[in-house]
Amino acid sequence: MRPQSLFPLFAPVTTLPGIGPRLAPLFERLVGGRVVDLLWHLPSGVIDRRFNPKVAEAPSGQVATLVVHIDAHLPPDSPRRPYRIRCSDETGFLHLIYFHAREDWLRRSAPMGETRVVSGLVEHFSGEIQITHPDHLVSLAELDSVMTVEPVYPLTGGLSARQVAKAARAALQRAPDLAEWQDPAWLSRQNWPSWKAALTVLHQPQGPIIDLPERRRLAFDELLSNQLALAMVRAHLRQLKGRTLSGDGRLRTRVIEALPFTLTGAQSRALAEIDANLASPSRMLRLLQGDVGSGKTVVALLAMLTVVEAGSQAALMAPTEILARQHMATIQPLAEAAGVRVALLTGRDKGKARDAILTALAAGEIDLLIGTHALFQEDVAFKDIALAVIDEQHRFGVHQRLELTSKGQAVDVLVMTATPIPRTLLLTAYGDMDASRLDEKPPGRRPVATRVVPLARLDEVVAAVGRAVDHGGRVYWVCPLVEESETSDLAAAEERHRVLASVFGERVGLVHGRMKGPAKDKVMAAFAEGALDILVATTVIEVGVDVAAATVMVIEHAERFGLAQLHQLRGRVGRGERDSTCLLLYGAPLSETAKARLEVMRATEDGFRIAEEDLRLRGGGEVLGTRQSGLPEFHIADLALDGDLLAVARDDAALILARDPDLASPRGEALRILLYLFDRDAAVRTLRSG
Ligand code: ADP
Ligand code: MG
Repeated sequence: MRPQSLFPLFAPVTTLPGIGPRLAPLFERLVGGRVVDLLWHLPSGVIDRRFNPKVAEAPSGQVATLVVHIDAHLPPDSPRRPYRIRCSDETGFLHLIYFHAREDWLRRSAPMGETRVVSGLVEHFSGEIQITHPDHLVSLAELDSVMTVEPVYPLTGGLSARQVAKAARAALQRAPDLAEWQDPAWLSRQNWPSWKAALTVLHQPQGPIIDLPERRRLAFDELLSNQLALAMVRAHLRQLKGRTLSGDGRLRTRVIEALPFTLTGAQSRALAEIDANLASPSRMLRLLQGDVGSGKTVVALLAMLTVVEAGSQAALMAPTEILARQHMATIQPLAEAAGVRVALLTGRDKGKARDAILTALAAGEIDLLIGTHALFQEDVAFKDIALAVIDEQHRFGVHQRLELTSKGQAVDVLVMTATPIPRTLLLTAYGDMDASRLDEKPPGRRPVATRVVPLARLDEVVAAVGRAVDHGGRVYWVCPLVEESETSDLAAAEERHRVLASVFGERVGLVHGRMKGPAKDKVMAAFAEGALDILVATTVIEVGVDVAAATVMVIEHAERFGLAQLHQLRGRVGRGERDSTCLLLYGAPLSETAKARLEVMRATEDGFRIAEEDLRLRGGGEVLGTRQSGLPEFHIADLALDGDLLAVARDDAALILARDPDLASPRGEALRILLYLFDRDAAVRTLRSG
């Protein structure tokens, strides 16, 4: 139960003065619906309104606060022109300019003949001094409250800067003095203030806050709560009983002998790590990271075979139908040659066929089940599942991993991801979850030549595609992401398909997310078999098929993609004997950051390096280009700025739990409060005396 001292902070924002039912939803959209959410909403900058010149001395381009007399209201003669209010002091005239003005409101706020305080950006415009949409227009009594350094908060439609600043001040009033949870020695070495003092400074800053020790302190608080929570959940999972699984190697040997290649060093290392987990009595929770094409599937298969040798069942879950089928196609012949029974279960299986699979599964007549989300369905029951492999491709969230593990007792979990997650981010999302990296490509992979080309040179790109096709190559053409709307994505892809078909004729195919499964598969198969030369695709459909003959990857508006996504798409070519090319088409003009990001893509094919660079260039939250990644987002900490604190937080968390696993000491009590503050209630519940 959340401690009483925090109740005021976790009350709805409507408990603050001035926030009623009209504003509440706007605040909810901006920060969240609770008082505490406002505390974490820090200003992004400040406006200094202490400059108080006479009208004639107010320079253009500067924010000033002026005391003026209201001379006249000048409504516009046409609705497209602005409403103007003429003001003056003894030195000159000033015009206040309002577009789409509400006249009644303006007449009330600036009554003729009275004195008013106005504050805003002064501009000199064709010989006149003016302020467009002043930030403040108030009575003389409020002069002192306007002439301050004003925090600027990130805003959302419908909320004014003043409303947010006022709400933040009110929230701050509710913040209690809390017992210190940080290590005293560390705190004094950093010279950091208390939690409350830090918040107070940050919400009433005198300048930019980004480098302030106060911000660093709160960032550390947040990272510590994250690392402590992960460590606690992990410790809890470790206590849960696992099972000892070891095989005799008979199935695995047969499959390895049947493989047309030998395992890479990285694959063997990963397998040894997995085997050790399986054999130990505690539960496995391991991440298998490796670029597209690094050979994760075979590692997963061999791990699952150990489980089958031990007499249990295993499941492999893929994020899409296509990928599930592809896994099936890879695994089935190998597994069946070794006498292992494999089945596929997707959302498309219905009626009798599905019933037959479920019956066999419950009877233990299926050893390996491959599928999609369909594996989660309630009526899917295993006889005895011991290992769940989740091919994440950054589509699943953390909770889904846990769902599959509820299908059996003490299920070991192996999560496969093709997203190279930088070490710092890995730590925030998975804590000390074990990780294996496939950082060695299977032999024979050829480098992909990557070029960055403006969209204006589309004609040349089309010509190059034509040459590649003439030489027997096959081409993926990925269409831009338009405003996260599937409809407009589709329109763009259809248009591109039409244009390319007018040049290349019938051998151009189109796949998109709106297509039904069988129709999609048919086009993909046609491309894989060579009946199509060019495949136009929206990103809704992950270009998941393995086509060795594909040699060209064209990505339109590459600047709109996350680097991880670009990297994955590019990994679809360069798999065969021939030289491959990736063309990143961009819409000009490019921002400096966008330019730098595309340059990273051009310069390297190392997924881990790309991920680190992306983190550096964009900051943590955006790295994966998707919010479905299951990676946490922070309120205050920014891994690009505070990455150094993360490792400290992790060590601190480990030390805390080693000394005081139940958080029962006075510092432990304070740390519980910290966990609640940052919504890590689930972690607190893992404590015996939680
Ligand atoms: P991932 O799932 O990591 O993207 P896959 O498991 O699909 O990669 O493997 C990509 C391709 O590489 C497959 O065709 C697979 O058969 C092949 N492959 C896997 N391991 C090796 C290896 N050690 N040597 C050569 N080829 C390999
Ligand atoms: Mg794969």
